[in-house]
Amino acid sequence: MSRFIGNTNYHTAQGLDEEFAAVVEGSKTPVEAVELGRSVEGRPITAYCFGDGDFRKPEILYFALAHAIEFIGAETALEIARGIAAGDAGAALDRMNVWVLPVFNPDGYAKVERQLSSGPGIGLARSNANGVDLNRNFPVAFYHLPRSIFSGSPFKISPYYRGAEPCSETESAVFRDFIIGRNFKTSLSLHSFGGSILFPYSHTSKKCRDYDAFMALGGEMASRQSRPYTVKPAYKLYQMNGDMDDWLYDECGVFAMVMEIGRLGVRAARPETWLNPFFWSNPVEPHAEIDNILPACLYLVEYAAEKFAGPK
Ligand SMILES: [Zn+2]
Repeated sequence: MSRFIGNTNYHTAQGLDEEFAAVVEGSKTPVEAVELGRSVEGRPITAYCFGDGDFRKPEILYFALAHAIEFIGAETALEIARGIAAGDAGAALDRMNVWVLPVFNPDGYAKVERQLSSGPGIGLARSNANGVDLNRNFPVAFYHLPRSIFSGSPFKISPYYRGAEPCSETESAVFRDFIIGRNFKTSLSLHSFGGSILFPYSHTSKKCRDYDAFMALGGEMASRQSRPYTVKPAYKLYQMNGDMDDWLYDECGVFAMVMEIGRLGVRAARPETWLNPFFWSNPVEPHAEIDNILPACLYLVEYAAEKFAGPK
């Protein structure tokens, strides 16, 4: 059985699980698969903890696939895990833990996999099984008036539906409880697309108190790319209410970065990209873009070791 969906270069959910199982099996550093909870439809939400798991140590979180269609984020999370397992974090893992949560929205992943595997193979889904945009479901400016169609909507018909109340969704509550019970100092949330490295705030145009430090960190990350991304506060992409990363930063004190991977994926020479939204959000060849971002993603470990883990 192929681990990939149809003739795409993207993993099936089962294929991705098998790849992560192989990473755990072959890892040079201690790693544990932890089921954080279950989705609305009962699928496991699994994170991988590299290090000894002692939460008195500073921790880093990489997470992806809040939005169902953004498969490139899960593929990137797999490569980050492979890098850490191969020893890319070096001695830093003696002093901290690195967590990788590849699929925050497993029901959404399953839905897009079904869409790609049937009929014309058009992948188009963003929300969880209740139609909620999980990245609009967190307790930050939740009830504020939306300032654009992307901001989060009180209406179920919108792809940006925020849900009935903050953390109304099973997945959001699982994530919230996971974060509150750990010791995260920094995080990288993987989305697509936009070719940018973002940081708080997204709910307001106000500068956050760590603006200069975020710009410097984003600049260090971008400098490790062969095709560098733009670094800017998330608000400059568009304003959002209920955003996970603003919640991580404001409520939990996490230095929360976001990467919008790739550019709009329509390519004149690739007809499969013309009418299929899946390929607008995901490059046909994921590794061409992952090679460009992986050093930037992994730099976060070096940064966190220096800033939060104290002297060697
Ligand atoms: Zn997204």
